[in-house]
Amino acid sequence: MRSPVRLLATLLIAPILAVAFTLPTVAAAGIQRAQYEGDARVDSPSHVFPFLKWLRDSAVEVVFGKPSSRAKTTRPTAQLATRYRNDVVVRFNVTNSEEEGALARAAEQMFLDVWAFTPDYVDVRLDKDDVSALLTLLPRSLQPSVLIPDVAAAVWATYPSAAENHRFESSMADAAKLRTSPDGLGNIFFRDYQTLAAITSWMRLLEAMFPSIANMISIGKSYEGRDIYALRVGMPSDAGEPKVPRKTILITGGLHGREWISTSSVNYLLWSVLTSYDREPIATKLLGSFDIVFIPVLNPDGYEYTWQTDRLWRKSRQQTKMRFCRGLDLDHAFGHAWDAVKHQTDPCSESYGGDQPFQAVEASELAKWAKNETQNGVRFVSFLDLHSYSQQILYPYAYTCSVEPPNRENLEELAVGLAKAIRLSSGEPYIVTSACEGAVLQTYSASDSLPRVEAGGGSAIDWFYHELQARYSYQIKLRDTGSYGFLVPSDNIIPTGEEVLNALKYLGDYLLGNNGIEESPFQQPSEQWKDLKRQRR
Ligand SMILES: [Zn+2]
Repeated sequence: MRSPVRLLATLLIAPILAVAFTLPTVAAAGIQRAQYEGDARVDSPSHVFPFLKWLRDSAVEVVFGKPSSRAKTTRPTAQLATRYRNDVVVRFNVTNSEEEGALARAAEQMFLDVWAFTPDYVDVRLDKDDVSALLTLLPRSLQPSVLIPDVAAAVWATYPSAAENHRFESSMADAAKLRTSPDGLGNIFFRDYQTLAAITSWMRLLEAMFPSIANMISIGKSYEGRDIYALRVGMPSDAGEPKVPRKTILITGGLHGREWISTSSVNYLLWSVLTSYDREPIATKLLGSFDIVFIPVLNPDGYEYTWQTDRLWRKSRQQTKMRFCRGLDLDHAFGHAWDAVKHQTDPCSESYGGDQPFQAVEASELAKWAKNETQNGVRFVSFLDLHSYSQQILYPYAYTCSVEPPNRENLEELAVGLAKAIRLSSGEPYIVTSACEGAVLQTYSASDSLPRVEAGGGSAIDWFYHELQARYSYQIKLRDTGSYGFLVPSDNIIPTGEEVLNALKYLGDYLLGNNGIEESPFQQPSEQWKDLKRQRR
């Protein structure tokens, strides 16, 4: 469904983008400085041409709207906000396999929405009237504590206007400064979560701003026919010759629709890498050695659905054999060891991965695209699949703890380094473990016979690791640790983005053979982050 407001925005953005695409020609002609002399904006320090900045700021307003008009366009309907009015999120501290097994069976029986499972806890969303029914299925040792008492209110708060109104109202005086700041684009874009349409326009804008190193592609189409967009970022090859093999890092977000912080973090990485190129040695070095492909919204149908209808939608929107239960869990849809363990066969389950491998359109499209890339000289050296929440860095295999990945020591070593880079940048602890672990730690010799909270067959990291030999494949579950869960407020966007950025720098350094010893500014928050903090004071 296309609202009149979005249609208008599309019509407005087209000419701006058209100008943006012609920019290199204008810049090459050298006329932009003379043309914009006298404009105060020209005087502000910037690493890009003043004309480019003016264009960018104008486009930002068109893409994201002027502050006063945004609340009206992005706030969901009251009906959407009241959907979860009787729901709570509760936490169980699970200490043994029997408890986990009981919880897993109850979750299956009651179609519970499991929000997180870590070696320490399992979080579940449910109607508060169902809590007592759930407890009758569990051992007495499992007692819940309430994490989020009012899910509806938390849902409402994540959509852009409530917090934004306050911020924009109180910082209207800063608006001019924001527009003249070299990082104005970043600041505005990362103040709030963004719609799919805004992200797509913004990616086009980035491609236009960085034509020599950024290339926007569609890796395929979703079930509902939306393009799954990616930006490939890398140095142009010499004299048109392809770099063979092109070592590539793939970074994805939004595989699960409701995990908005994963999408915003991919965007943050993308933007940071582009704007740090030629400014920060590690970024320049990274792009000198690797292409990085960023896919912020792997599940565009699900993501769009979280904006239009149901903020907590996780799966795709593909029709299943059950008319009233749509959607496949894309992280149980990939073809490696898809059927290795008992998996969800009920389409109404939140972790239903289909009736056969790659039945989910988006998983299939990503795999086809990636495989095709490898046949054209691309070698995936690393795959970072960003998710939320629980602050964990998970390495293969997800499907079993009985099989060790061949380079487990290195996988673990690098994961610990990534966690350390994050901790040094923000103080946030991230747990490192194998993705096979459920709510209770298993050993590699343990059997998979006990029911787990979520079976791990068919995951994306396993497929990339095993089928494409992406030797450093990780699923990173971002902030938080349960205070807001999937509904982490928008003021976490930049700090979380910074955390992963530091992890990415560490990853690049490690892959380049320096194993984390190269001088790189892990502890230094980037300029845009400092700038935003200043503005909020
Ligand atoms: Zn996820």
